[in-house]
Amino acid sequence: MERLEEAARLIGLEDDVLAVLSRPKRVLEVSVPVRRDDGHVDVFVGWRIHHDTARGPAKGGLRFHPALTKEDVAALAIAMTWKCAIVDLPFGGGKGGVRCNPSTLSTAELERVTRRYTWEILPMLGPDRDVPAPDVNTDERVMAWLMDTVAMARGEAAPGVVTGKPLEVGGVQGHHGATAEGVTIMVREAFAKLGLPVAGARVALQGFGKVGGPLAYLLSSLGVRIVAVGDLMGAVTNSAGLDVAALATHVRANGTVAGFALGDPLPSEELFAVPCEAFVPAALAGAIGADQARALTAQVIVEGANGPTTVEADEILAEKGTLVVPDILANAGGVTASYFEWVQAREGYPWDPAVTAERLRDRMQAAFNAVWDRSEGLGVDLRRGAHCVALDRVAAAIRFRGIFP
Ligand code: GLU
Repeated sequence: MERLEEAARLIGLEDDVLAVLSRPKRVLEVSVPVRRDDGHVDVFVGWRIHHDTARGPAKGGLRFHPALTKEDVAALAIAMTWKCAIVDLPFGGGKGGVRCNPSTLSTAELERVTRRYTWEILPMLGPDRDVPAPDVNTDERVMAWLMDTVAMARGEAAPGVVTGKPLEVGGVQGHHGATAEGVTIMVREAFAKLGLPVAGARVALQGFGKVGGPLAYLLSSLGVRIVAVGDLMGAVTNSAGLDVAALATHVRANGTVAGFALGDPLPSEELFAVPCEAFVPAALAGAIGADQARALTAQVIVEGANGPTTVEADEILAEKGTLVVPDILANAGGVTASYFEWVQAREGYPWDPAVTAERLRDRMQAAFNAVWDRSEGLGVDLRRGAHCVALDRVAAAIRFRGIFP
């Protein structure tokens, strides 16, 4: 909200439009009773929130997390409105989730949570209403259950109701690595602006999951040295660059980067102080607070995660002159690939994967340029510039459509 209000001031937004955007359009809270494998019933709470739909159906991920709150979901839905506008997709912003700990659920229990949650939020969903996608702790399998539940309930195929699906049921090649692909483009663009060479550069990563895993591969294929990677259970460092393929094998076997033999162990908190040119937070929100911002040596931060930097940390980074590529631009590759999947589902005609890849690169590059130019024009950082680009576009849609009735 602080960031919205500041952007509104910067672009001289009228109060009426700010008032419309200051509240979510729809909030649905649902109870999700699930029979556990041992026979007893647990009742989880879930939400689906549409922030704004002036530019198109609500779009945004579905997350399962034990500490999830309604406020988290609402904030993430707002961020999706801006993100979709920055990459110029015909979507509004939405988000959903269930407060549960998927690591304590069997596969069958996870399926029951997904299906019952989907059933409860059914009135919100549809290719022209709201299109979920994977997010923290959800994957293509969860998306397939979600699609199947909608298809069973409506008695018709529902390929356009969700993105990030398995290839076998209408997913697209390249969706899996699309967020990482977008982050890679941002690293290259930011380095080009600062005159830093990419080959040989040092990058430290927080998170080695859906974003951090593919990202480490993509960056090292450009000659970047991945000098440190951290996750919930620990961190590893190697100033010559970690062997990413060996690290991925270790993570598949152990569920964490900790204990990786081809690197030195590092306490998680020291990850932020590892000397590097770029740091990519690709885990959860709030990872970079004031202390971490002070410790960071990187000249560039590219936010792979949603909301990784606190407002206080942002100020510290600005004083240090660190270039921060904000989440709503940096990780928009995922939702851009989702858009392509949605279009292909509606056309019923899959594109050549090379076309998808090329269009993703074009969108991300155009978005970076729009945000860079707007930030320069206003004399503000990229986060403020990004919010202004997004707000300009969303506000224009609201003005043209007017207020109903
Ligand atoms: N969960 C991803 C994000 O936060 C993707 C959302 C989508 O594709 O709808 O951007």
